[in-house]
Amino acid sequence: MAKIGINISTGSLQKEEMIVGIDLGTTNSLVAIIHPETGKPIALKEHNTSSLVPSIVHFGQNNVTVGEQAKQFLITEPQHTIFSVKRLMGKSYNDIKYNASFFTYKVIDDDTERLVKIQVGDKFYSPIELSSFILKELKERAEHILKTSIKKAVITVPAYFNDSQRQATRDAGKLAGIDVLRIINEPTAASLAYGLGIQKNEEKIIAVYDLGGGTFDVSILRIVNGIFEVLSTNGDTYLGGDDFDQAIVGFWLQQHKIVQEEYIQNKELVQRFRLTAETAKKHLSAHEKFSTDLDGKNITISKSEFEQLIQPFVIRSIECCKTALKDAALDKTDINEIIMVGGSTRVPLIKDSVSDFFGKRVHIELDPDEVVALGAAVQADILAGNNKDFLLLDVTPLSLGIETMGGLMDVLIPRNSKIPTKIARQYTTQKDGQASIRISVYQGERDLVKDNRKLGEFNFSGIPGMPAGLPKVEVSFFINADGILIIKTKELRSGIEQSIEVKPQYGLTDEEVEKMLLDSITHAENDIKVRAVTEAKTEARQIIDTTENFVQKNREYMKEEEINSVGIAIDELKEVMFTDDKDTIQKKIGILNDISRPFAERVMDAAVSFAMKGKKV
Ligand code: AMP
Repeated sequence: MAKIGINISTGSLQKEEMIVGIDLGTTNSLVAIIHPETGKPIALKEHNTSSLVPSIVHFGQNNVTVGEQAKQFLITEPQHTIFSVKRLMGKSYNDIKYNASFFTYKVIDDDTERLVKIQVGDKFYSPIELSSFILKELKERAEHILKTSIKKAVITVPAYFNDSQRQATRDAGKLAGIDVLRIINEPTAASLAYGLGIQKNEEKIIAVYDLGGGTFDVSILRIVNGIFEVLSTNGDTYLGGDDFDQAIVGFWLQQHKIVQEEYIQNKELVQRFRLTAETAKKHLSAHEKFSTDLDGKNITISKSEFEQLIQPFVIRSIECCKTALKDAALDKTDINEIIMVGGSTRVPLIKDSVSDFFGKRVHIELDPDEVVALGAAVQADILAGNNKDFLLLDVTPLSLGIETMGGLMDVLIPRNSKIPTKIARQYTTQKDGQASIRISVYQGERDLVKDNRKLGEFNFSGIPGMPAGLPKVEVSFFINADGILIIKTKELRSGIEQSIEVKPQYGLTDEEVEKMLLDSITHAENDIKVRAVTEAKTEARQIIDTTENFVQKNREYMKEEEINSVGIAIDELKEVMFTDDKDTIQKKIGILNDISRPFAERVMDAAVSFAMKGKKV
């Protein structure tokens, strides 16, 4: 292992660049690294403080603060204190409008389809910018603790995050001055932290039960040979420890016959009750009873009273586990390991209920608040090349495909596919007796190959003479674990084959990849139109060729007026073929098809009956 020369306790300087693992959470965020001496993942923290940084940003008069400091303003300055920004990543106002009241700050709702913005005073911020404030704070803390500059990181996201949410997370990293080497799924990170799935030839099914402050996720993963596949995810985006706190507050209000409406008016009292409830909850994870003095009242709660209060939430989470299993088409007995993630899994009733449900012991040996970041650090270490025994998993940053008729991109491996990966597709010839096919390989997201990046080109030759459409040319793309693309071409009837190797990522910087992705979004609408026109033209060309061929070969079976009307329909189609009017082209194709169908069928019938007599047409 290429060790980094730093002693964390003394802070002596390191020599090599460090890649950190970051858990950018809804409630809390943190950074982890692989300890240079022990080789084990550890969460970074200042002396005598928590490793957790509340994911909260406060905008003061002249400064922006993040973390514990910002948290203090949650009640007093709700409009300037942004929490739970992760819930807004990659979302439009339409996506969140039913939960808009959850956010005590101003979420702009004037452009409902576009990505949301948050208004603070007279400034507007995107969730990406807000997340970048948190990441910047994490980066600075890590730099302070490690006494070195941090430029590269692995960041975790929920397994259900879509492409735009993942991209938003990447962009937030970039804005914070961090090169995000990899975005990995939180349940995958949790598994890595426990060392599950990183050995070759290992096959396991894992359930990750993640109950945080405000959200609950359960994911079912299958790990085969170091490849993590998310089989299903389920959860509740508004279920977590905060609900437990609320339930305790409700219990106390009843205990002391405090009227809800009056209590709610007193913001400061609400805050004190809530914080005391959280203290009580944490206390009850290790004790049987909690009591304290609050506002001159003696308030108490026992562990069994608390467990009764949260029973409905526990049941809800177990229902989600059942659905996740059903979606993965698995039985709970198929699960090999269960990992607990999130601070709320410290509650004994939660641990016991999950363990009872799956009929197995659950993993809770690692700190459930840190486990995701620890796993991100493990992944970072693998990326740094320090862990050569483990498989390096990757995804393709851009789609890979070949050029088909009309210059269209036919995608074989979509972007973000896990590697190694393999796919095969069949193609055929366009002309009778065609002996070779040109295979041009492209990388990119646009519909026309001319807008994508050409990786290579080769001629697949030696196809035995056959009528057009008869050869079966199978093109298979295989990306191995080193990211090398191997293309094999085989004519299935004759068995002739050929193969070449291409390095798909070679020569592309992150910026170029990003630009290509952005271009694909900007031009999406136009691309779809161009693709439709090109496809219509290709279809037109093919039907003209086939029909002309057909008429030439089968004149003797056709009437004079049939030959004439086909000729007219072909001419009309040829006329519109060079316009960009897809609908007219399609209409003329339809007319030609309708005219030629009756005699084509007749000729077919004749051919069949000739064949039956042992003669050849
Ligand atoms: P997370 O979002 O994963 O950081 O989880 C934070 C949630 O875990 C909050 O609701 C905390 O109150 C809760 N939590 C933290 N420690 C404990 C504990 N010892 N017992 C019960 N809940 C806890």
